[in-house]
Amino acid sequence: MEIKIFDSKEEIGKYAAGIFADVINSNDEPILGLATGSSPIPTYDELIRLHNDGKLSFENVSTFNLDEYKGLDKTHDQSYYYFMNDKLFSHVNINVDNTNIPSGTGDIKAICDAYNKMLSENVIDVQLLGIGSNGHIGFNEPGTSFDSVTHSIELDESTRIDNSIYFKSLDDVPTEAVTMGLSNIMDAKKVVLIATGEGKSWAINELVNNPKSTNVPASVLQSHKDVIILLDKEAASKL
Ligand code: PGA
Repeated sequence: MEIKIFDSKEEIGKYAAGIFADVINSNDEPILGLATGSSPIPTYDELIRLHNDGKLSFENVSTFNLDEYKGLDKTHDQSYYYFMNDKLFSHVNINVDNTNIPSGTGDIKAICDAYNKMLSENVIDVQLLGIGSNGHIGFNEPGTSFDSVTHSIELDESTRIDNSIYFKSLDDVPTEAVTMGLSNIMDAKKVVLIATGEGKSWAINELVNNPKSTNVPASVLQSHKDVIILLDKEAASKL
């Protein structure tokens, strides 16, 4: 596990985007694992800048997103489908047919099975991750099995409270989600995890310094052979 500490979110975004650009430029058909939330936004901004400068093409890129809220359809402005189009896909030359986000509406069992089948046929070259203040990755909340694949999950109250800043009220935050499992995440060839702010310092210390435990789902990454963790000073403050 490599750990790097930066002075700002923008510097983290530049560094992470550099890793993603290298993967895109060195593979004929790159497969990216993408994340939502505030942590990846500076990375997406930098990828868009590289694209606008003519340095990066998404023509042959495929993507798999980690998760989606249950019950929000694609047009809801807090759905992760909406987020990805708004923050990245609509700004670059990606073929949207090659982008994959589990749907949060419809036959959830069939959606999870289909997503797992696609993931078993497509190895992710590099997976971007944020981390929850409770140590979740994707929406794999504490207690999730390390063997898990894409599944439906009840969101922790702490996650709903953290994410309520994006909704009108806590009551509007969905109670369930569909998420790639921890085993799917571990299958990625490379993992880039970003955390900023004091609120992430507990989870980062647990991930880095304490024994692997399903109480802190991100700690599964201790067994991954290629993980880089990009932090600001606040997120690193308990290390
Ligand atoms: P954040 O969310 O990037 O919005 O802090 C991260 C997460 O919950 O995984």
